[in-house]
Amino acid sequence: MSDNKELREKLFYEQKNGYDLIGTDERIALEEFCEGYKVYLDNARTEREAVSEAIRLAEAEGFVPYTYGMEVKPGMKLYRSNRGKSLMLAVVGSKSLAEGCNIAAAHIDAPRLDLKQIPLHEDSEFAYFRTHYYGGIKKYQWLAVPLELHGVVTLKNGENVEIVIGKDPSDPQLVITDVLPHLAKDQLSKGAMDIIAAERMNILLGSIPYDDEGSDRVKLAVMSLLNDTYGITEEDFLSAEIQAVPSYPTRDVGLDRSFVGGYGHDDRVCAYCELKAILDLDKPEHTAVCILADKEEIGSEGTSGMQSQAFECFMEDLCDAQGVALRHCFANSFCLSADVCNAYDPMFAEISEKRSNAKCNYGMGILKFTGKAGKGGTNDADAETVGKLRRIFDDNNVVWQMGALGKVDQGGGGTVALFMSRRNIATIDAGVPVLSMHAPFELVSKFDTYMTYKGVKAIYED
Ligand code: MN
Ligand code: MN
Repeated sequence: MSDNKELREKLFYEQKNGYDLIGTDERIALEEFCEGYKVYLDNARTEREAVSEAIRLAEAEGFVPYTYGMEVKPGMKLYRSNRGKSLMLAVVGSKSLAEGCNIAAAHIDAPRLDLKQIPLHEDSEFAYFRTHYYGGIKKYQWLAVPLELHGVVTLKNGENVEIVIGKDPSDPQLVITDVLPHLAKDQLSKGAMDIIAAERMNILLGSIPYDDEGSDRVKLAVMSLLNDTYGITEEDFLSAEIQAVPSYPTRDVGLDRSFVGGYGHDDRVCAYCELKAILDLDKPEHTAVCILADKEEIGSEGTSGMQSQAFECFMEDLCDAQGVALRHCFANSFCLSADVCNAYDPMFAEISEKRSNAKCNYGMGILKFTGKAGKGGTNDADAETVGKLRRIFDDNNVVWQMGALGKVDQGGGGTVALFMSRRNIATIDAGVPVLSMHAPFELVSKFDTYMTYKGVKAIYED
């Protein structure tokens, strides 16, 4: 019996490591691309910073704010900031908006610790900020890691005071303390979810008392420091949005530097890929739309989340300028829900089905569906949509892979995909596979990051 090698090659689907599929030029290109990404991630520690940094990059490429009533002509580069917390950009295509848009939608919020609205208190001559975690975190991962604070305080007169503490190397850093192992018998006998109660996730702010004989002397000293620097009082925290985020700079990881390690890859990595793709776009046929959305980690709610009509408002304004009905534009549009997926981790092989899971260095991950158990709570893209992607990616040398969110009964999650498909937009999930997702220090492969940029650009150019 002979080995029918040719027949196997013809009939079987085999995946190859991405590094075996590219040449020196692309190796250089992917390194360069990730250098830009590292800078963006360091400058985008919150959704507000992700928006302002994106606007800065977009304006440098000729994008202008769009207001209702402006003309919408081919080649125009437009954007609209939604309250400084989400952003929509468009490059107007040569075809009418009636023929639909190519959309990529990523989110720029990330798991973190928000300060409570009355955060400052003193306990045993230590001053603390109380926190309320945002998004799905393993709380214990946030103990004993350096933190920095980013956010805004809105004063009663409407003025916003911007707060950034800990980012500059000369700034102090902040931390939540943990129990020493020597005395952790009770703590370590608990389930991991109970290792730290949310109400104990208090950020240590200081220990030097104010020089007087009153009460809460350390709290007073800390509040005095904040008042000196920012002009705020304790009451001003009532109308503040301040986030504690890991204080790690984005760095190469691995002896071969094949990974980028940092805070907030989910989902600023896809946000940067689609942002760069639209900035690098030249006169597309279909109008290209890039969405950087807020609040995905808590269900895409709120005015800045993907369920908000702010998206309809922007798109309808563009359609009105061309005399097109929004519903016709949506019906003919295509959307990449650009969000990260889990990367196969051999150290935790039991949570995934290896053949179906996305793997690092195998390219942009496509997920036909996310959701839970029997595909509950997901946009399950149709075969035609997947087929279209296969054609576009293969025509443009985009290395990509089909992924799935772990074993069927292991858990699950969602993205903005179902909110886009509810608008009658053909939608599919696509993005960068991540190791240690939602941890204070996440990893992505440089190869997959670059391929996701290439993939979004190929969609925009289709
Ligand atoms: Mn997430
Ligand atoms: Mn995400």
